[in-house]
This record gives sequence, structure tokens and C-alpha cells, in this order.
Amino acid sequence: MNVTALTNESIRKKPASKRASRQRSSSTPLEVVRLCYNESPYGMPPKSHEALFAAETRSNNYPDFFAFELKKALAAEYSLETTNIITVAGSSALIDIIGCTFINPGDEVLYCSPTYEAFADMANAYGGVPAPIPLAGDLSFDLDGLYNAITPKTKIVVIVNPNNPTGGYVPSSKIEEFIRKAPDDILIVVDEAYIDFVDHPDNYSMVKLIQEGIDKPVLILRTFSKIYGMAGIRVGYGVSSPEVIDELAKSSHAWNVSNVSQAAAIVALGEKEFIANVKSEIVKGREYVSRELKRLGCAVNDTQANFIYFSSPLAPEDITAALKEKDVLIATFAWSRVSIGTPEENRAFIDALEEVLAEVALKEQSPA
Ligand SMILES: *Cc1c(COP(=O)(O)O)cnc(C)c1O
Repeated sequence: MNVTALTNESIRKKPASKRASRQRSSSTPLEVVRLCYNESPYGMPPKSHEALFAAETRSNNYPDFFAFELKKALAAEYSLETTNIITVAGSSALIDIIGCTFINPGDEVLYCSPTYEAFADMANAYGGVPAPIPLAGDLSFDLDGLYNAITPKTKIVVIVNPNNPTGGYVPSSKIEEFIRKAPDDILIVVDEAYIDFVDHPDNYSMVKLIQEGIDKPVLILRTFSKIYGMAGIRVGYGVSSPEVIDELAKSSHAWNVSNVSQAAAIVALGEKEFIANVKSEIVKGREYVSRELKRLGCAVNDTQANFIYFSSPLAPEDITAALKEKDVLIATFAWSRVSIGTPEENRAFIDALEEVLAEVALKEQSPA
């Protein structure tokens, strides 16, 4: 059976996804110190739990296909119209919809690398060409570099801020400046998955440009997976002009938000105090983990997200493997990435890493 011969040309040429969450050699255990996916250790607001269970009793009914009440709640949150909002089963689904809607074969998707691998996947899946340039020295997006790299082939420019996996942050006014001077025949995508964790003073959402009615295609990606603690129930959204939203909404992915996800997300939007508390715990946690990593001799990249990108004297895949033996999961890139957990989880991670580094130091001292 030659299924590859049946696939479309883009998929035939597409390299396997690098996203760790797509690896299927085993499941990721839950009952460990799980600091590998930037999840919230605090879960969703308690009232969202109640709303989710109440909605579950109507699971024989289809969800509202257009998630109208959720769109209404999001529109109210931003003083926009429901026509400015697309809801999706996680913002990863929206990244795919972007490719499906905008990419013709050969179109370039420009971004800085390393960043969220979903953007390279999206380009490849639709016959586009990923066009990565390096991050800036502080491992945030290099806006001048991006601007200079725009060519007639550029269809989409992606900005992830704060960036994943590095945590690097560009002040919001710089992003606004970039968007204002960028040509108006490309789609600018700003992924704000981690913006709720930022405590830099120059910090506002690019939704502002949509509120002001900017006359160029700009799309802001947001998710309930991170600070809202809902990664498991898959809900995200995009904010843009009605013209962009209308085109995106032709995709069937745009109907795929489940009834329980809609109910939980609507309620979560009202739980400001809960979210503010999560932010303050995470900010404290990242200060603690940064400090401790430095004490252990690691290089630590400045972060505004709920994770830290660091390097130690060991290769990142070796640290990941050694920590896994101790039931602590982190992620491997060119450096290591550890999510911020509860204070207990953060301490467990630091203790385990300290042990691992001490074991290595011992081995180096005694000839084998
Ligand atoms: C986690 C993450 C998302 C959100 O993914 P969901 O599909 O909404 O769970 C989006 N962008 C980046 C950069 C992320 O790290």
C-alpha cells in the first residue's frame, strides 16, 4: 500500500513535526513533576469547573457551532464586536487555519527561530516556505531583522511575544511600531499565548490596533491553555478585523470548540482575581527558579513567560533524561526549557537538578 503516493504534494514533502507534543512513542505521565509543556499548575478557576460540569449534562447536544456566547464575552472583554473574534479548539488550530486560508505554494512565512514549531508546520503543510531568521541577542524577536527580511514572496510575518521556547520579550510599543511600518499586503500574526505573564512596564496587547481599526491585516492569537489553566479542554481565539475573521471562519476548524470548553472559558473571563493570583505566583516562581539556576552555575535567559530557558554544563537531552529518572519532566531544545510550577514543584526541580549536576561532577572526579 503506497499511501504517500495518495497524499497531496505539500504533505508528501512536509518534514515530520518537531513539536514534542506530537511525539507518540509513549504518553506523558501526569503524576510527576510535569514542567515540560508550560501548563498552569493551578488549573482553571473553580467557577469554570462548575460551568464545565453543568455544560457536560448537555453533551448529547452539539455545541453552539459559532460559540456565539463565548464570542460575545470576548468581544465585551475587548470592547469589540463578535465579528472581530474567531474561536478555535486551541490556538494551534488557528495557526493551521491561517495556513489553510492564506498560503499559496511558494509563499514565505517569516519568523525568528527558534520559536513555536507550529508555524513551520503550518507553512510546510500548505506548500509554503518557512523563512526563519535568528532571534535577537536576548533571544527575543528581532524586529529590525524581520523588517529587513520581508520580500515580495513574504505572505505572513509571525511574531511570538514573549517567545517560546526562550521567554524573550520585546516591549509592546516596539511591536506596534513594527506593525505600523510593515507593508500592508502581508498578514501579521502576533502570538500572545504568554502575554498574561508579562510584568514589564511596556506591556499591552496588539488587540489595541484592532480596537483602533488599523487598516492592514493583523491577527492576534490568544489561548486559554496557559494562564487560564485549560490546556486539556482546548480553547483559543483570534482577534482581527472582520475582513480577516470572515476568511478564517471558512475553515471547519472554526466550529470545533466543545460545549464544555465554551462554558468554562466564558466563566473564566470573569475570574480576574483568580488570574491575577496565578500571575503573581508564577512571577514569584520564575524569580525563584532563575535565582536557583544561576546558583547552580546555569546560564539563564531573561524571561517574561511561565517558563525559563537555560543551559547547564550538561547537554540538554542528558539533563532531560537524568531528570526524568527522578520523575521531573522538562523540555529539550538547543538549551533546556523548564515551566514554572507550584513552589513545591519548582523546588523539586531545583533539588533534582542539583543532584544530577553533583552526580556528574563526582563522575568527572573519579576515573571510570
Ligand atoms: C502554548 C502555545 C500556544 C497555545 O496552544 P494551544 O493550542 O492554544 O494550546 C500558542 N502559541 C505558543 C507560542 C504557545 O507556546
